[in-house]
Amino acid sequence: RKKKKKTLITANVTNCKYELVRSSVEAVNIHVLKEDAVTLQAAYLFWYDSVVPMEKFQELKNYQRINHFPSMGEICRKDYLARNMAKWVESRPSEFNFVPRSWILPSEYNLLQIYAQDCRKKKRKSPTFIQKPSNGAMGNGIQLFRNPEKIQAAEQTIVQEYLDKPLLLDGYKIDLRLYCLVTHCDPLRAFLYKDGLVRLSTEKYVSPTEQNMDQVFMHLTNYSVNKQNEKFERHSDFDRGSKRSIKSLIAYLKNAGYDTSTLWRNICDLVVKTLIVASPHILHSYRMCRPGQSPHSDSVCFEILGFDIFLDRKLKPWLLEVNRAPSFGGDEKIDRDIKGGVIRDALRLVNIRASDKKRNLASQKAEAQRRLFRPSQSRLSTGNLSSSAQRIFIINRRKEELKEKLSWVRKEAAREDHENANLGGYTRIFPCIDRIQRERYTNLLSDAFQLFLQSRSAPFQKNIIDHYRPHNEDEILNMIEQCEAEEGIPLTKSKPLSSMPVLTPPPKSTSKRYSDESSSDSSDSSDRFNTKTVYFAGEIRKREVPPTPSSTPSIIAQSAPTTRDQNRCQTFQLSRASRCDTPASSRCVRSTIARPTSEEGSFLIHTRHNRRHYDARLDDDQAMALVMRGREDENTQRTLAALERTRIKYPGKNDDQADEILDHIIQNWKSHKPKIASYWLVKLDSVKRKKVIDIVRGNVQAIMTRIWRCAEVDQIRLMRLFNRVFNRMHSGRGQGLWNCFTTSRQGSNSWETIFSKSTDSVSEVELQCCRRIVRLSKDCLLIVYQFASDAK
Ligand code: ADP
Repeated sequence: RKKKKKTLITANVTNCKYELVRSSVEAVNIHVLKEDAVTLQAAYLFWYDSVVPMEKFQELKNYQRINHFPSMGEICRKDYLARNMAKWVESRPSEFNFVPRSWILPSEYNLLQIYAQDCRKKKRKSPTFIQKPSNGAMGNGIQLFRNPEKIQAAEQTIVQEYLDKPLLLDGYKIDLRLYCLVTHCDPLRAFLYKDGLVRLSTEKYVSPTEQNMDQVFMHLTNYSVNKQNEKFERHSDFDRGSKRSIKSLIAYLKNAGYDTSTLWRNICDLVVKTLIVASPHILHSYRMCRPGQSPHSDSVCFEILGFDIFLDRKLKPWLLEVNRAPSFGGDEKIDRDIKGGVIRDALRLVNIRASDKKRNLASQKAEAQRRLFRPSQSRLSTGNLSSSAQRIFIINRRKEELKEKLSWVRKEAAREDHENANLGGYTRIFPCIDRIQRERYTNLLSDAFQLFLQSRSAPFQKNIIDHYRPHNEDEILNMIEQCEAEEGIPLTKSKPLSSMPVLTPPPKSTSKRYSDESSSDSSDSSDRFNTKTVYFAGEIRKREVPPTPSSTPSIIAQSAPTTRDQNRCQTFQLSRASRCDTPASSRCVRSTIARPTSEEGSFLIHTRHNRRHYDARLDDDQAMALVMRGREDENTQRTLAALERTRIKYPGKNDDQADEILDHIIQNWKSHKPKIASYWLVKLDSVKRKKVIDIVRGNVQAIMTRIWRCAEVDQIRLMRLFNRVFNRMHSGRGQGLWNCFTTSRQGSNSWETIFSKSTDSVSEVELQCCRRIVRLSKDCLLIVYQFASDAK
């Protein structure tokens, strides 16, 4: 047999001067191409030290990757950063209080002078100013001023208020170099390396005076500046010398009693907010360069940004600047160790695969075909189609969109799984795990896009903002099912209306299966009556203690089917025999589990989707995740127990009488079946059928609200599962619920197939809950039917 040739992942690093980049690329099994290789342009990875021309982004094939994003200059040039931040500092001063006060020269020269005069008038200690070239680096061209009048309104410079109370390490001023990896901009995904460099000045710090203004070794912390001082100390230990590791600084500060967790949280916050400011610019440029590339697809760009952060005496981080080409040079071990880790772990997260090339070709082909065969909007607007065909057309389009979203969500989930397994020294900072924080950032992002898009067209705005709303697989599946229900097409091959079950005699096992749903131990009897006895035996046991009127919850039922029935049906209620003898398992759950406080309760709406993040979190987060997972399971158990105790109430009759009615129908199923089928599938229209199902849905929502202590129950994963089941029952012009009265030859319930569509597995307890609501819906239909017949 021929041995399959292994495809090499190749890198073109001809535009990179750092040896460390080359060796790190090779360390993750990427083959570095020679300068003269003919395949240079077909490489999988391109690494540039300098700014990348726009054409390069456009030329790239979908499987190729480059280490820059277009428009990153919006935060990496000092003047652009100052301009972009100014809007935020003005509109949200408390959130953007990490940027030193800045003026772009020459245009804001007057504002600078006015500010300086104001400070003098208010007899505040007059500030020191620092002037820097807008596009400068390595401390070049930087000057300090005590007297603002001496500042020249030079082109392409910015002036900042000098932060004169730095945190000192052994008496020296420091700054931090942190590395942030951005892997996607559509939508944003970002990580922060948990280590970095601490750069010390080489003269002991003294507050700025006219006399020490020029002492760059005292006021600047750049390595390139301080290495020129003979006092620059090189040390093999990472906690000594003029260049140290951030980990060693954190350990030192922790030891000294500082709150380093808050420091790290503030640093992450600063980085995320800076990226949010840049985000609309980058996304816009990216989409311009890569037209047709769908959101959530693999990004051809990634970027390692160097964040320079100043710490003041109170340990508050300040953003000095963002470098889009941070130095990967350095002759010391600390450089090789930290920067090497930054590059290697970044490449692992970016996840370049040999199969990308083939896969991209295939998906491009598929996409082209899909576009070719997709009916166009113009067909719809020609008026050729009847109104019902137009409706179907619109629903189908919506369904297509939702399916696309579903594939995005699944892709994101797979991506996240890969990331969690390959974080290395990085931590994910966006999207972040904390729900409240994530919402806050999403709002900021939304504002950033609004600000950016003010002058742009509405569809473009919607398109961009839409995908920042967190989507969830269950939610989308639910919406797809709603579309299918609207369309009137059953999800699986259920019988069309013309072959209503009413016309065919029931298979022998029909009722048995109906019974099986609630009673897993109902064994093998082919006799419907016997099986039914098993089914009701469970119920009777539960009702040993009769319910008292006071135990009936004040759950108001939804309105009911026909106009005639409507008023009566409003009194249908789900009654809960709270003093019933509950199953031992649920009793045990109730006795051992304390109710969550309202605060804890709000945590519970963390969905299983979010669970993916937990593995990659710090210990605290893992502990919290475990607690939350436990709570979710507890609440699911409690919901099941509550549902088990819930009954459909027949107006004017007690629970036992209602059960007798149900018993009677089941025992005489053969004669009732055609009438019920006719009532449900023919007499009731879609709206009325929905009302019957909503009797149960509304009450289930009330139960969920009470148990989960959450106002927005639709956000809870379990409720989303329920909604899918309810939608399923309403689908196919009532056929969905009707099919629940029978089971397939294999013995499975047809509605359960909805869960096989989802990649998220449904637990046994969740499934039991769903079975219970199917059971209640069936009972509800039977009671409504009986009530309508009795009324006649
Ligand atoms: P460059 O890109 O030339 O390195 P930076 O903005 O990073 O310019 O500034 C260089 C150094 O000057 C910083 O490392 C820091 O030590 C000092 N510095 C810059 N801005 C301020 C400021 N606003 N307050 C205090 N020190 C500053």
